[in-house]
Amino acid sequence: MTDVHAKGMSDEARVEEVEALPEIESLSITQTDPRARGQSHGEHWRACVHELAEVQLSHACVSAETDAVLDSAAASLVVMAAEVPDLHAEILGIAEGADLTPQRIVVLNGVDLAPVDEELAVPSAAASGGTSIYFQGAEGPTLGHIWDLHPAVAPFVRVLRVKTAHVTTLLVTLTGCLGLAGLTDGGFAVTTLALSQQDRAVGVPWPAVVRSLLAAGRAADARRDLERLTLGSGRHVVLADREQFLALENSATHTVLTQKGPKAAHLHTNHSFDPVLRQTEAIPRTSTTFPRINTASTIYAQQRPATADALWALLHEHGPGAGSLCSHGGQGASPQQPVTAAIAVFSLAPARLRIVAGCEQRGRSVSLDVGAA
Ligand SMILES: [Zn+2]
Repeated sequence: MTDVHAKGMSDEARVEEVEALPEIESLSITQTDPRARGQSHGEHWRACVHELAEVQLSHACVSAETDAVLDSAAASLVVMAAEVPDLHAEILGIAEGADLTPQRIVVLNGVDLAPVDEELAVPSAAASGGTSIYFQGAEGPTLGHIWDLHPAVAPFVRVLRVKTAHVTTLLVTLTGCLGLAGLTDGGFAVTTLALSQQDRAVGVPWPAVVRSLLAAGRAADARRDLERLTLGSGRHVVLADREQFLALENSATHTVLTQKGPKAAHLHTNHSFDPVLRQTEAIPRTSTTFPRINTASTIYAQQRPATADALWALLHEHGPGAGSLCSHGGQGASPQQPVTAAIAVFSLAPARLRIVAGCEQRGRSVSLDVGAA
């Protein structure tokens, strides 16, 4: 088993090597009209939306022609207009605010483009990863998440506070993106992890799925919503509220409940637990998903965290090699290998988010009450 407690000298040395990251920037949006909400977002982060749109388009075009990628994005917009009209309007608003086409914003939002050739069948699994840990502790349900993103995407992580008449939601997102994960003031959290499922389809982009699930307000209703939506690619989806924990794995065509029960601890990385989904999975050789689940399970069993602070410390364990939950990239790492873009702990009661760009060896965390101004 990996020695996950190899701290001390090596950690201190690593601190000096890594580049310091700025505090994660947040933006509050209060417009009730979805299109106006998008416009505010697009205008506020226009320069960064342009930069990230270029990066994402170049990634999508590694194995497909630009025209084909943009055609798939247009097809995805048609599905959004039918299934999630408010989020479709928000995408149009982001496009207007940032002065880009809606297709370019869809490409920025993801990875859920249809395959145009065989090579694109497993396009981005190695481009992103992550680790999820949930438990019911002394302070109530607590959910930790690590986002490992392509090094060119990692600098664009932001926090968006969206206030409507009925609910305030804190979103962990990218500039120009609808949301990677979120937490409502009612204590309902949604996070997802990429799975390397081989089937791909034109569907609702994952950030729009996340927002749609959050709008459902509670885990059981969000599960029904997930089963209703047309999905484009494989994910592990956590739905956690103050009473219930549900986690589902899916491909573009198949969705399975794989973890449930608010009293148990639930850990996940980037491979399917479901035996049927395992058969359609193609995990890239460069993926660290198996060593990371080993590390997470081992240190969870050793430390038995009961509070948000204890989970925060657990997520900051820096082991050697591929089993480290946090990855800094840099020396010796492939320029395509994902790096840890952010670490967060969602406390559900009261609803609170603590988040840091990279990890606390690299930047300073911020703590945000979801309902606060
Ligand atoms: Zn780190």
